Amino acid sequence: MKKKERSGTINPIFTCQPAGAQYVSIGVENCIGIVHGGQGCVMFVRLLFAQHFKENFLLASSSLHEDTAVLGATHRIEEAVDVLLMRYPEVKVVPIISTCSTEIIGDDVEGVIRKLENGLLKEKYADREVHLISISTPSFKGSMVSGYDIAVRDFVRKFATKNEPNEKINLITGWVNPGDVTALKHLLKEMDVDANVLFETESFDSPLMPKGDAVSYGGTTIKDLESTGDAIGTIVLNRYEGKLAADFLETEFEIPSIIGPTPIGIRNTDAFLNNLKKMTGKPIPESLVRERGVAIDALTDLVHMFFADKKVAIFGNPDLVIGLAEFCIDLEMKPVLLLLGDDNVNYSRDPRIKEFEEKVEFEMEIIENADLWDLEKRIKNGDIELDLIIGHSKGRFIAIDNDIPMLRVGFPVYDRAGYYRHPIVGYAGATWLAEEMANVLFTDMEYKKNKEWILNVW
Ligand code: SF4
Repeated sequence: MKKKERSGTINPIFTCQPAGAQYVSIGVENCIGIVHGGQGCVMFVRLLFAQHFKENFLLASSSLHEDTAVLGATHRIEEAVDVLLMRYPEVKVVPIISTCSTEIIGDDVEGVIRKLENGLLKEKYADREVHLISISTPSFKGSMVSGYDIAVRDFVRKFATKNEPNEKINLITGWVNPGDVTALKHLLKEMDVDANVLFETESFDSPLMPKGDAVSYGGTTIKDLESTGDAIGTIVLNRYEGKLAADFLETEFEIPSIIGPTPIGIRNTDAFLNNLKKMTGKPIPESLVRERGVAIDALTDLVHMFFADKKVAIFGNPDLVIGLAEFCIDLEMKPVLLLLGDDNVNYSRDPRIKEFEEKVEFEMEIIENADLWDLEKRIKNGDIELDLIIGHSKGRFIAIDNDIPMLRVGFPVYDRAGYYRHPIVGYAGATWLAEEMANVLFTDMEYKKNKEWILNVW
């Protein structure tokens, strides 16, 4: 495991912390986040969401300009909250998401919230249920991944209460697609486990209905957030996208938690089901054993013949990259380069990375604080030869320019149709991932006339 050897970033893998907080806020019903900063801090993030999901999401900006960037802008929060509440009568939750500029100015967001709660909300909106949350996401540290983690904790911290035990588990999915949520709900249903799926993005794949709704939002309600304090336990699928909230619930309400693994591939899905069993006492049903068998059968058709020894580079969110690397190893592939796009100090202590260090028997580089130039330069210099790249659409030109097949996975994916609809988690996700990898390799064999005849006799 290495750190990037340059200062500066060329073609970043991630965007900044406020983007993660914005992703969490669009997962909550009747919630519109106010991004306290320049308009670009929300405009470009909304654009990414719209590109990835091909849907519109509501996010607001306090819209700083030159004067406020110098003299302070807390009055812009006050105006923004008032305008938002006037314009959207259904809004109940308003997270105030700070950015690099407002953190540098030192705007006292919590102080403004207290002022609004004792003033505007009592005077003008006394008949409305309104919750304001301060989410501090300075973008000069961390990334969209840590921003997601912070925002999940702050939402849970705001609402969680202790009432009657509800026999549910909290499931914090992390930054996943609607198709993943559907797949996770399927596994929960088969296990007969009642779960509170948090920051629930299944509805981001929204129908176009006759009345013409053009805005999407997630399915997590205030009630769901309140009841996190009454759960029998919390399962966090992605260590870096939910652990802070699980730690809070454990410390504050003595709710036990299990962190990871991301259920990508067979062994990690097995682990997830075993964790559900451990937490709830429910057995793994025959239907899932059969599903597992179907997936293993599909993988067996591909592994030895097409995947063995294929060299892969993977970039994106850390839990995704690590989960995909574990799956590639199980498929006899060689993930030779893993790029983690920020410098979280916990990566070097991650047990999964330690396991790579101890067990992997080929040359594997893991770069922290990496950018896409770390990938491009190694290809251009001839330091690595790759059979496949796995990552989001920001890497597409590296793949195109260097004639390397690429499977789009992660966020954002905007140059392939409908990928947000397909799960990569669970047994169905393992099958989809492996078959897509194979299909990408097959297309490459055909275009390059590289043993394409094999497909005739397979
Ligand atoms: S880096 Fe700063 S200015 Fe740029 S989008 Fe992020 S918060 Fe806004």
